[in-house]
Amino acid sequence: MRFQDRVALITGAGSGIGRATARRLAAEGARLALVDWSGDGLEDTVAAIRQDSAGTAGADDTLWTGIIDVSDEAAVERCVSDVIKAFGRIDVLCNNAGISGGHLPVTEQSTSEWQRVLGVNLAGPMLMIKNVAPHMQAQGGGAIVNTASVAGIRSGAGGNAYSASKAGLINLTMTTACDLGSYSIRVNAVCPGLIETGMTRPVFEYARSNDKEHKLGSRCELRRYGRPEEIAAAIAFLASDDASYITGQALPVDGGNTAS
Ligand code: NAD
Repeated sequence: MRFQDRVALITGAGSGIGRATARRLAAEGARLALVDWSGDGLEDTVAAIRQDSAGTAGADDTLWTGIIDVSDEAAVERCVSDVIKAFGRIDVLCNNAGISGGHLPVTEQSTSEWQRVLGVNLAGPMLMIKNVAPHMQAQGGGAIVNTASVAGIRSGAGGNAYSASKAGLINLTMTTACDLGSYSIRVNAVCPGLIETGMTRPVFEYARSNDKEHKLGSRCELRRYGRPEEIAAAIAFLASDDASYITGQALPVDGGNTAS
């Protein structure tokens, strides 16, 4: 029970990796503030947590949900303040909400779409860290885990806006780890490879309908794509005291994609 009596705020908790992380941290005793712009997604996550615990956990005093857009500064400020009112503290922040954007070449990239992707994937985590860190400082510490991507490390794994946002998030991880280390606040990132989630559903549907599913894992050494639970396990590790001397790092969880 690594998260007993700890409060974790998870963004993008209404689907995929965020939902798997919420379930994992709940199973390890955390009280959860679940944030997403999809109310339906959050309801499904809450139902899954209640089912996991067979009704013994996930009671109202251990689960809080907030429907916001993480790129909206005023909404983030209100959200963090409401979580503090509900739980009194935030020990873990998982900046996981993200959007993929398109795969157009830069000459066809729309500026508004670029700003939308950067707003959610990079400004969103910055706004969350800016608002949560003062509470962690007052508490004497905390752990922040950002969901970046292999697309932030290498080219060819995402469109230009998405890849730039994730590369920026990796650097934000390092710079905020330096800003906050003296307050015992650790900041790390995971860099997932290809994972089957809502975001990648079109890729999987296309591959399956064209008998090309075997190709989906072919760019990594383990020769398979990953599951959300495998990313959640790495996020839980970095958020826990098992990683007490790790900060400012970006951990690929990609079946070896970035090793080759
Ligand atoms: P997903 O689409 O299943 O989940 C993303 C969640 O974020 C959704 O519930 C969505 O509603 C929410 N969200 C999106 N924009 C938001 C906003 N502005 N405000 C609040 N909530 C918002 O996708 P996923 O794959 O689970 O993605 C989670 C994270 O993992 C993302 O940051 C993504 O970039 C990253 N990632 C995913 C993969 C992959 O292969 N699936 C690979 C590398 C990195």
